[in-house]
Amino acid sequence: MDKNISIAIDGPAAAGKSTVAKKVAAILNFTYIDTGAMYRAFTWAVLERGLDPQDEKASCSIIPDVTMDLLEDGRVFCNGQDVTRAIREPRVSGNVSYIASYKDIRLALVDLQRAMAASKSVVMDGRDIGTYVLPNAEVKIFQIASVECRAKRRYDENVLKGIPTSYEDVVEDVKKRDYIDSHRAFAPLKPAEDSVELATSPLGIDEVVDAILKIVHEKTGLEIPCH
Ligand code: C5P
Repeated sequence: MDKNISIAIDGPAAAGKSTVAKKVAAILNFTYIDTGAMYRAFTWAVLERGLDPQDEKASCSIIPDVTMDLLEDGRVFCNGQDVTRAIREPRVSGNVSYIASYKDIRLALVDLQRAMAASKSVVMDGRDIGTYVLPNAEVKIFQIASVECRAKRRYDENVLKGIPTSYEDVVEDVKKRDYIDSHRAFAPLKPAEDSVELATSPLGIDEVVDAILKIVHEKTGLEIPCH
């Protein structure tokens, strides 16, 4: 492949973006970048410092001190600590959308995201990848699913990971994050004009993966490996 290719996958909370993005990246041998994990790691860092995530000034004050690393194997490190599990806990999920609404924090993380995508082919998932982070991405997908389907998916994932939550709390968390994410002033959650909308149901993951691969082939001419 002579040219790097970027695939942007956006959509509301728990729409199955990361499952789909990981599969597409594995088939194409691209790097998967989970930008939600970065906002979650920053939120973890704010909470670790004993700061209030709803206090913008205090949260932004630690920007110069926070380091993060997304490993190829999916582990996430923040300030030298493995936070892979901690960033999925309810205290982080319940606060991450406040942190993600602060422009200075977004600008710092978007710089890292663009740097990660600069020199390789990537599948990046998030909320503003097609609209703001990688506006020239060759393929832009906006993945949707009903609130019930999304909450059920996230609840089942939490059970598997041993993260204690009730289904009702997950429904509330998903609705609250969608509201804050789509109403923030800077780089809100919304489909890019040139994105393709794809609906996922719990059984539809492989269909969505195949639909994305077909779009990749049509838009870039890339031959899709057998999978
Ligand atoms: O993708 P995930 O649900 O893990 O993202 C957690 C939160 O991070 C989202 O609810 C949103 O507030 C924020 N986020 C964002 N922009 C991105 C990715 C995630 O604002 N590109």
